[in-house]
Amino acid sequence: MQSKAPEAVDLSRETRQTIDNYGIGREPTNEYGRNCLVARRLVERGVRCVQLYSGGGHLEDTWDAHESIEKNHGKHGAEVDQPIGALLTDLEERGLLDSTLVAWGGEFGRMPFSEGKDAPGRNHNPYGFSMWFAGAGVKGGIRYGATDEFGFQATTDPVHLHDVHATILHLMGLDHERLTFFHQGRQESLTDVGGHVVRGILAGETPSIPVKEITVAILQPWNLIFTIGFVIYVATRGKFAAGTKGNESMDRRVGLQEKILLPVVISTSLLFPIIYLFTPLFSFADYELPNGAHAYGLVFMIVGLWLFWRSHVDLGLNWSPTLETREGHEIVKHGVYRRIRHPMYSAIWLFSIAQGLLLNNWLAGWAVVLAFAVMYFLRTPKEEEMMIDHFGSAYKDYMAETGRLFPRVRQSTSNESKSVG
Ligand code: SAH
Repeated sequence: MQSKAPEAVDLSRETRQTIDNYGIGREPTNEYGRNCLVARRLVERGVRCVQLYSGGGHLEDTWDAHESIEKNHGKHGAEVDQPIGALLTDLEERGLLDSTLVAWGGEFGRMPFSEGKDAPGRNHNPYGFSMWFAGAGVKGGIRYGATDEFGFQATTDPVHLHDVHATILHLMGLDHERLTFFHQGRQESLTDVGGHVVRGILAGETPSIPVKEITVAILQPWNLIFTIGFVIYVATRGKFAAGTKGNESMDRRVGLQEKILLPVVISTSLLFPIIYLFTPLFSFADYELPNGAHAYGLVFMIVGLWLFWRSHVDLGLNWSPTLETREGHEIVKHGVYRRIRHPMYSAIWLFSIAQGLLLNNWLAGWAVVLAFAVMYFLRTPKEEEMMIDHFGSAYKDYMAETGRLFPRVRQSTSNESKSVG
């Protein structure tokens, strides 16, 4: 730095035109003009942060304006106006403004009323004042937020200083919530426990998946409950699917219907919730479920998961993802199959409805119910037809004793003894 710094602050190689533009060599712009030109030279040389101060010192030497707002701001405004304009133009002409954020501000604004009787001074105003941003990542030519008509207090879109800091960090590629430092026994951040990026002034957001929103979506209690159920659901299926691999198939009835519907049901039941929970892609379909819906969803989910598990256990090696009968296939009539013929489908109905009742998103929630409904009504008659082809009257008898989705209450004791045997 010691070898580079002298060259960086040496203005003697700048053209006459540049020196003039910044107002160097004449008053009242000489001092601040020099600062601005040095700033451009530092930015050109890759310096990350440059701070320029106007004023300093005391009262009328700086922007304090306790004596007279007009005299004070008139004086200091004239010192900085031309140099700032020159700096922005210069950065732009050199192609540096695209990657340089210029932020202008003071520690306070001034009050709209006089300080003292008949005095033209103005006291500090922390309630409403202006800052401006130019350059990298911000929209040009807009005004964001406003004070009341007196200029006393920010009333429209107020921006807290933490928001300003969050926005500047964002524009530098830093997440203010994750940029922390250990201080006095805790992780602290520049924005303390507040601060939001002021998106309204940003030139355009790069579409990326906001990490923070992901964690928040998953951490919402009902989403978390659904996620736990979802993992159990998938794990149950996975465990039994692995167990029945390599089973010899004897009669396979996979029509076009199955080929189309199975992927649709799998996408809506597995992919959609993942998209909803982990990305903002489905946010257009967000909505508020009515009060109490989630509680019903939880009940449906618990019963559905239990039935899903039990039907897999009872069906054992006879399970298959598509319609088929297999080597050594037997009609399962025990366990949950005693009174219901399609308990696994009952379970999928229950779980799908639970998905609709738990997720605050109609697409991730209800698309699966529609997809599974179509599949259920098209598939079940075919499945029963296949079972009758394979098992004949034995399956017909079994059908007479059972309900499709809901348990059938037996009519006669003779039926009872038959099914038990
Ligand atoms: N519809 C059933 C099973 C779904 S798995 C349920 O909802 O519980 C689909 C496979 O299960 C089909 O290929 C069929 O061969 C087999 N299957 C269906 N009902 C059966 C039963 N009662 N006994 C044995 N296998 C059965």
